[in-house]
Amino acid sequence: MIKYSLICKVGHEFEGWFQNSAAFDVQSANDMVVCPSCGTHEVQKALMAPAVATRSNRSEPVQNRPTPGPDATTHAYVPPSIAEIVRKIRAEIEKKAEYVGPDFAEEARRIHYAESPERGIYGEATSDEVAELDEEGIPVFALPVLPEERN
Ligand SMILES: [Zn+2]
Repeated sequence: MIKYSLICKVGHEFEGWFQNSAAFDVQSANDMVVCPSCGTHEVQKALMAPAVATRSNRSEPVQNRPTPGPDATTHAYVPPSIAEIVRKIRAEIEKKAEYVGPDFAEEARRIHYAESPERGIYGEATSDEVAELDEEGIPVFALPVLPEERN
């Protein structure tokens, strides 16, 4: 079915449903499309896109969203209850893993290749170092930092 906005010769606007656009043409040619206000058969399609329920006719809102650049990093907004969990995870890691400071990337690599004893470690790494580890398939992840811990 297709809905047309129609207008009669004196300007009455109304809407009509038709099987398809050909059906409108046939009915119109046979004086079967009648203005409900004045009864005239002289009716034509108003200059309006027919309202058809297709996907392409729907709104297209999301496309203007900017794509994040390569520098974008993942961020999260969390309510205080989740922030508490994040804090606990961090505390747990900091308690059980060994702090290796700026040697993190090198030490993670040694552990991965079994050149150092297997254990959890944490420390500082540059984004380049993290990218290299990632390329080598060495699983490291950024510790979540809560906003109040930055400074
Ligand atoms: Zn009319």
